[in-house]
Parts: sequence; C-alpha cells; structure tokens
Amino acid sequence: MKIFKSALELKESQKKIKLSGGKIGFVPTMGALHAGHISLVEMSKNHCEITICSIFVNPTQFNDLKDFENYPATLESDILKLEMAGCDILFLPGAKEIYPMGTTLQQKYDLGELENILEGKYRPGHFQGVCQIVHLLLNIVSPDFLFIGQKDYQQCMVIKKLLEILKLETKIIIGPTYRELSGLAFSSRNQRLTTAQKEDAKAIFEMLSFIKKNINTTPPNELIDYSIKYLLSKGFENVDYVSIANADNLEPVSAIDSTKKVALFAGKIGAVRLIDNMILE
Ligand code: AMP
Repeated sequence: MKIFKSALELKESQKKIKLSGGKIGFVPTMGALHAGHISLVEMSKNHCEITICSIFVNPTQFNDLKDFENYPATLESDILKLEMAGCDILFLPGAKEIYPMGTTLQQKYDLGELENILEGKYRPGHFQGVCQIVHLLLNIVSPDFLFIGQKDYQQCMVIKKLLEILKLETKIIIGPTYRELSGLAFSSRNQRLTTAQKEDAKAIFEMLSFIKKNINTTPPNELIDYSIKYLLSKGFENVDYVSIANADNLEPVSAIDSTKKVALFAGKIGAVRLIDNMILE
C-alpha cells in the first residue's frame, strides 16, 4: 500500500489510473479503524480497480473540543489493517495540507432541514464541517465511487445532498452497519468504553430490534417512550433522541402505517456519545 501525505503526490499517482480507465473507490475515515471501516474498503475493492482510504480527524466537524481531543488514534494498527484488506493507497494528510488557509468555512452548504434535526440539532455546525471536509477530499481524490456507512444514516443523506449541490458524478455506495456479536455497532468511540459500559451499550441494539419487532402493532410514540426508559435503566447517562422517522426525509412518523421508516438513536454512556440506527422493514 502506498501512503501519501501530500495531495499533489496523490493526484500525480492517480493520473495513470485515470488514463487506463480504472475506477477509483474512496473510503474517507477518521482512523481508529474497525471492521465497519474495513467492510467499506472490501466493498470498494469489489467494485473498483483502485481503492483509496483517507485518515484525517477533521477538526471542523467536532462541536465539542473534548470529543476532538479524545478521539482515538491508532495509526500503526490502522495501516496494518488497511494493508491486510488490500487497500491500494492511504491518504494521510496533516491539517496544514487540508486547511492551508485555516479552517474557516469557504462555502455554506444549503442542507435544508437536514441540518437542524437529530444530529444537526445536538451537534450545531457538525454537518457543515462534514460537507467541508468531504468536498475538499473529493476535489483531491476525484473518485468514481464513494463508500460510506449506514451507521451514520443522517450523514449519508447529507453527503448525497452535497453531491447534488456540487453536481459531482461520483456515485455513493452505502454499506450496511457492521456490529459486534453483541449487536453493538462498531465505532471508533467504542474504544473509550470500559468493559462494563460496553456491556450496557448492548441495550442500543436491543432497543432498536424491539422497535423493529413492534413497529406494525404499537404507535411510534409509545415505542419511543419505552425505549428511552429502557436505555436510562441500562446505564445511559442521557438520551439525546430516539426517533422513528420517515427513512427518506427523517421527518418523525407518529402513526402505524406503511411509510418506510428508520429508528435513530443518540445518547451518552459516561463521556462517550454513541449513535446508531435501524431500518424498520
Ligand atoms: P468515521 O471514521 O467514524 O468517520 O467513519 C468513516 C466511515 O465508516 C463512515 O462512512 C462511517 O459511516 C463508516 N462506518 C463507521 N462505523 C461503521 C460500522 N459499524 N459499519 C459500517 N460502516 C461504518
């Protein structure tokens, strides 16, 4: 696997690939890689001739400085995992490479209501930061396919919208959420959980599965009330939201009906904020 820290070097190495018509797949990450990230690398390898992964912990998408400072970094093992997965190129820029002029947003992305609800409500500015970094990375990497995870459901919708705004031809492929045997979704932040907290965090998957099982017979609001009580009884410090929403626009659904729905969760165990979701089909 080649490792590039400079955008220019990366672009140079891609010229030949582009000329030969080879498809480029791109998996952007913030490192502390786990099986979920690697599943996206594998998807890219199945679809594309060349797979590029990036690791960059983007400061502009953190609304909480402590969360940014405590974000896990495991570069050596990340490189090993990517090599074992057969990733072709790792783009590993420093902050100066990405933000030579500073981190001020150069463009405001019009994300509509998506920006104000759920993660947008609890993490002001987060999705503008996500768009900023994805926009910059797409300009550098120019991939044919972008691989992102359903684990970040609202982020997938935001990135789809970003590609529309930028009128880019890059196609998005969304990979399923990879989970530990307990059902807990893999997340870089899980590394910050104690063994006992990890045990408690299983309640997220139990709660989402419960909603899925009962969504056709129980009103969404009852399921939400029950879920929040369940999570609080299982050691969650707080629950930012449990939402049962239209899977296409994230508007809350209050009736038992045939709308395609998704259940979304965010909450904290100790100092660690986790999110998850499940499509209710
Ligand atoms: P992150 O490093 O957390 O920014 O995540 C990088 C990419 O990996 C994003 O597209 C995430 O949605 C995706 N991802 C994170 N966790 C998982 C998971 N458990 N399963 C599948 N994809 C994931």
